Amino acid sequence: MEQPALFTIFGGTGDLAKRKLYPSLFRLFRKGNLNEHFAVIGTARRPWSDDYYRDIVKETIQSFDPTDAEADAFASHFYYLSHNVNDTNHYDELRELSVKLDEQYQLQENRIYYLAMAPQFFGTIVQHLSSQKILTEQGFNRLVIEKPFGFDYDSANQLNQEIRKVFPEQNIFRIDHYLGKEMIQNIAVIRFANNIFESLWNNRYIDNVQITFSEALGVEERGGYYEESGALKDMVQNHILQVVSLLAMEVPTSFSDQAIRLEKVKVLEAIRRYSPEEVKNNFVRGQYDTGKLDGHDFLPYRQEENVAEDSSTETFVAGKFLIDNFRWSGVPFYVRTGKRMTEKGTRINIVFKQVPVNVFHFDNEESAQPELQQNVLTIYIQPTEGFSLILNGKEIGQGFETDPVKLDFRHSCEVTGNSPEAYEKLLLDALNGDGTNFSHWDEVANSWEIVDRIRQTWDQETPDFPNYTAGTMGPQAAFDLLSENEHYWIWQP
Ligand code: NAD
Repeated sequence: MEQPALFTIFGGTGDLAKRKLYPSLFRLFRKGNLNEHFAVIGTARRPWSDDYYRDIVKETIQSFDPTDAEADAFASHFYYLSHNVNDTNHYDELRELSVKLDEQYQLQENRIYYLAMAPQFFGTIVQHLSSQKILTEQGFNRLVIEKPFGFDYDSANQLNQEIRKVFPEQNIFRIDHYLGKEMIQNIAVIRFANNIFESLWNNRYIDNVQITFSEALGVEERGGYYEESGALKDMVQNHILQVVSLLAMEVPTSFSDQAIRLEKVKVLEAIRRYSPEEVKNNFVRGQYDTGKLDGHDFLPYRQEENVAEDSSTETFVAGKFLIDNFRWSGVPFYVRTGKRMTEKGTRINIVFKQVPVNVFHFDNEESAQPELQQNVLTIYIQPTEGFSLILNGKEIGQGFETDPVKLDFRHSCEVTGNSPEAYEKLLLDALNGDGTNFSHWDEVANSWEIVDRIRQTWDQETPDFPNYTAGTMGPQAAFDLLSENEHYWIWQP
């Protein structure tokens, strides 16, 4: 069933629109989620014509091999408006075009405003949508906004207040594109559809949890942006804390967006707020140096484009979160993320406690192993999707040598190829008014509170950078963080 709507994309000539939004809209078009009753207005400052805009849109969908007729049919729904977001008159033109397209395509006054622009423009756009009466009375009016949402708690709060003057919380869709990933959504299925896991999902059986978001790439051409953000704000504040909350939340009463959010927020509230001393003990930062991997020589971060020669921006973070509630008290949630690490990958390792006694350990028998392997459930998110479980089996032969066995289930490329792209899923959710995979303000606010404390402590001292070799899994301190508790990183590529 097609849900009629008008998409207004602010920043329609930008990188995000071209790489993600247009291809995702095309996938929805192909699947019939968008058909006759949709239109797209792309706005940006450049003076493009509709025809030129449609050619650009068609270019962005070439990889899908559409027929000419199909590409033309899709692109015919796209309209371009040269629009400076600071110019009030331009919003009047936008209103007129919106009303016209609404009638032409019978869109029932349903509107989705997608802000694919730098966050400093969000406030002014939203204000004008209201003052110039672009918002409709009959249909829905939904706002989709990109990360980053603010650069600390105060700025995020201010931005939120501006937006909330116009849009109620349930109509604000804050994108965290990781939430659209198939496997993150599968975390919920692994947990809540498998009794063998959910019944063990607590501090009695789980020893520690490890979350790794590693990238093999360096900062590439994003030096300017990254210098301001660093790994903590770029990854921990949003993606990593979202994953922590999905892993640690209580079982929601239903799989509705409100029920899930309620539980995620409770977890974020229970994450310990660290004192400066605790930040120093529980979080480490790093910046990559020169290095070599697979025959490539890498530049140190400080020599990358648009990066200061004496930059103290972190390209790596590792840390330990503690969740002070009944379920998780005493279980460390270790997280790490960085650039120029050994391998690209996003995975979660759930490390179970040892059995209380190893009955296969005989003092008088040299052959039996003193230590059993801990059971580990690994959830793979990228680049392959799936999960594996390490169990102990018996080695064939006499005696009781145990042998770890890995049960591995990973989706083949074919299946992942067919699985919806994150942005496609998120756009469809916004169209259907499903906020499950978007961040609620309470989640954003809590995440900033947690991260601001780390940032503020770090800003008091100049770090001794660079401190890890490009192509490695980060500085020694990231390993020491776990070994202090007699833990170690399960994933060591
Ligand atoms: P971009 O610089 O490529 O595009 C910005 C767009 O804004 C362009 O269309 C530009 O013409 C328009 N614009 C700038 N000033 C304007 C003005 N005064 N009036 C009207 N239009 C104006 O940026 P992008 O990479 O597409 O990113 C857009 C947003 O999405 C940013 O907030 C970014 O942080 C976020 N984001 C981008 C990506 C990505 O993959 N590119 C990923 C995650 C988040």
